[in-house]
Amino acid sequence: MATYKQPCIHCGTFIERSSNFCPKCGSNSPFGYSCPSCGQSIEKEQKRCSSCGRDLYVNCPHCGKLTFVQEKCEVCGKSLIKICGNRRCGAEQFFDLVKCTACGKSLIPETEKKGFFKRKKQDD
Ligand SMILES: [Zn+2]
Ligand SMILES: [Zn+2]
Ligand SMILES: [Zn+2]
Ligand SMILES: [Zn+2]
Repeated sequence: MATYKQPCIHCGTFIERSSNFCPKCGSNSPFGYSCPSCGQSIEKEQKRCSSCGRDLYVNCPHCGKLTFVQEKCEVCGKSLIKICGNRRCGAEQFFDLVKCTACGKSLIPETEKKGFFKRKKQDD
């Protein structure tokens, strides 16, 4: 089987098309971006996902600045990915999702649910 290589869009390293991360820069989206909610392929110029309609620019939970929905904040560089708490799943999920796209379980711990909508105030 011939190996087909394609450059990582972030660092330009040629990597195998079947890889789902770049060994050079560590990106989980070496061949392009996909919607964190529905998996539709998206472009950075888009404001909303053409499939599910979610916003593709969100406020970073770390620095509060607007950033594209990729695995790291464009402004502060911190991770925007959380891991599904379901022990048998453990899928990487975008931080603002309320349900795991892999197993369908809630991504908000019971203890956090109450303060979920108040969090903005506490960040001051
Ligand atoms: Zn790369
Ligand atoms: Zn979508
Ligand atoms: Zn940030
Ligand atoms: Zn899950």
